[in-house]
Amino acid sequence: MAVNIVLLGPPGAGKGTQAKRLEQLYGMVQLSTGDMLRAAVAAETQVGLRAKAVMDAGNLVDDEILIAMIADRLEQPDAKRGAIFDGFPRTVPQAEALDRLLAHRGSRLHQVIEMRVDDDALVARIAGRFTCKSCGAGFHDAFKPTKQAGICDACGGREFIRRADDNAATVKKRLTEYYAKTAPILPYYRARGALKTVNGMADMDAVTTAIAEILGPPPAESTH
Ligand code: ADP
Ligand code: ADP
Ligand code: ZN
Repeated sequence: MAVNIVLLGPPGAGKGTQAKRLEQLYGMVQLSTGDMLRAAVAAETQVGLRAKAVMDAGNLVDDEILIAMIADRLEQPDAKRGAIFDGFPRTVPQAEALDRLLAHRGSRLHQVIEMRVDDDALVARIAGRFTCKSCGAGFHDAFKPTKQAGICDACGGREFIRRADDNAATVKKRLTEYYAKTAPILPYYRARGALKTVNGMADMDAVTTAIAEILGPPPAESTH
């Protein structure tokens, strides 16, 4: 049975890092709305053109755009394997829309995992974050450097990207947005017993272990 989970946490909490690991462990597909929006900005689609300035300022893009984007994405066949929502929902209306979208497809949300990290650590994580341009593998200057300087561990690529919005001023705004608009989703999920919290301050392996304990053993057939 396909399992759908949400990773909920402030910018830099480790959602993308853990989503990629869970994809490998459990076989669901990572749905990162940040990645989708950045792809739209790069492709200069209508959505991308609208979203760019909003993202650069550290604000949230309109619910209507995000909900349409996720609705489309859920139509693709790989979403039937189950999804790890990374960066969505970020507002209560998005959370309500996600419930409707999944119900419409005869499915539901199985678990919401909150990743809790102190603000100081978030700022340090975001300041040192970079990703491989060819395969998207994530790294950090101090906490997860590449094994060989300048070479991606995963694919051998030599080009890396730093996000335009990963600067001190924008990070502050993104954190404010998180506490004002995203944190109110927590009681929404807590009320129905779907919410579990993990200590996102722990090292990456320990966080993966804590999430795996919540999700239970991966189904043998989807391990790869
Ligand atoms: P998010 O998707 O929540 O914004 P990322 O997964 O991109 O967060 O992580 C932000 C940065 O912090 C990345 O550079 C990543 O390598 C690093 N990171 C992720 N998890 C941890 C951790 N548990 N401890 C230290 N650094 C981490
Ligand atoms: P982070 O990894 O730091 O949590 P993301 O990559 O998820 O950041 O998102 C980057 C930016 O994209 C956000 O600051 C916001 O402008 C926009 N964005 C991503 N997901 C959403 C969403 N669900 N709702 C509104 N805006 C979003
Ligand atoms: Zn790579």
